[in-house]
Amino acid sequence: MTTPLIDPFQRPISYLRVSVTDRCDFRCVYCMSENMTFLPKKELLTLEELDRMCSTFVRLGVEKLRITGGEPLVRRDIMTFFRSMTRHLDSGALKELTLTTNGSQLARFADDLYAAGVRRVNISLDTLNEQKFADVTRWGRLPQVLKGIDAAQKAGLRVKINAVALKGFNEDELISMTEWAAERDMDLTWIEVMPMGDIGNEDRLDQYWKLSDLRAQLAQTYTLTDLPERTGGPARYVRLEETGQKIGFITPLTHNFCESCNRVRLTCTGELFMCLGQEDNADLRAALRNHPGDDAPLEDAIRAAIRLKPKGHDFDYSRQTVDGRVSRHMSHTGG
Ligand code: SAM
Ligand code: SF4
Repeated sequence: MTTPLIDPFQRPISYLRVSVTDRCDFRCVYCMSENMTFLPKKELLTLEELDRMCSTFVRLGVEKLRITGGEPLVRRDIMTFFRSMTRHLDSGALKELTLTTNGSQLARFADDLYAAGVRRVNISLDTLNEQKFADVTRWGRLPQVLKGIDAAQKAGLRVKINAVALKGFNEDELISMTEWAAERDMDLTWIEVMPMGDIGNEDRLDQYWKLSDLRAQLAQTYTLTDLPERTGGPARYVRLEETGQKIGFITPLTHNFCESCNRVRLTCTGELFMCLGQEDNADLRAALRNHPGDDAPLEDAIRAAIRLKPKGHDFDYSRQTVDGRVSRHMSHTGG
């Protein structure tokens, strides 16, 4: 029996988020600059290496895998990787295989994802207005994403919408987006904008829409019931009594969720980040590439990394400057 991964603060690590590419077909203003330089292909883990890496984590007790990026569905042959993870679902070792996507490629891949064992997807969508959508994603087109959402639901995937709360941008859509999601039987989670990476001229304090304000606005229209549910992450949930729908709030900046954190993040180059808000990371790619036929050094490197998982993050907007800023982009670490 392998001993499961427990960090120094007695938190069991059961959730791995994996970025499979840093590339994307959109250029969302809060996530990327218009002219991004992406990593050379040889830096990326190959699909076989991703399989070995994830399989090792599953062997060490990871039960939930979330595939993200960049845009995971623009990575060539990514379905091969999803299909290779099906065996861990079949064996029962892996309880959930899921992904976060911008939805642009879902019309093509929804059926294949379902066949591979995916049952839920998070789709990022910040506005239902075509022009605003084109503005915020720079390269994205709303109808394509709406088609993707249709395809996902038709394939049998449960869809959750993730929207970044942006002051002066989607404040006026709070109720219309809630109603739209309710009509389609989709949960909706709002994310507070985080200070990650250099994205050009945008001023993050201008974009910052406090979710406690958003929640108060929502409470003017709906009856909110707090749900006890905890996912080990920064999300808190309420139920809207009028629609029955679940609304999530991801507030990494204003909430202390770290004490129950059960997750680590693997970048597309094989660095393991033990905390989204800290720069500390471990290079697992070397342990993997230097020992092609032997997973023991990789297991050792993972255990050593988990022993370094920090107690919490340092993001802080309270002094009106962005403290605890992290230099890497969300598309690198995987959101
Ligand atoms: N491309 C996929 C997508 O957009 O869903 C997956 C990767 S994306 C980095 C994951 C999530 O991070 C998206 O929901 C996106 O809106 C969110 N995100 C990106 N940059 C962010 C930031 N600076 N603050 C808060 N959320 C951010
Ligand atoms: Fe691409 Fe997702 Fe970042 Fe938007 S948020 S640029 S879709 S990785």
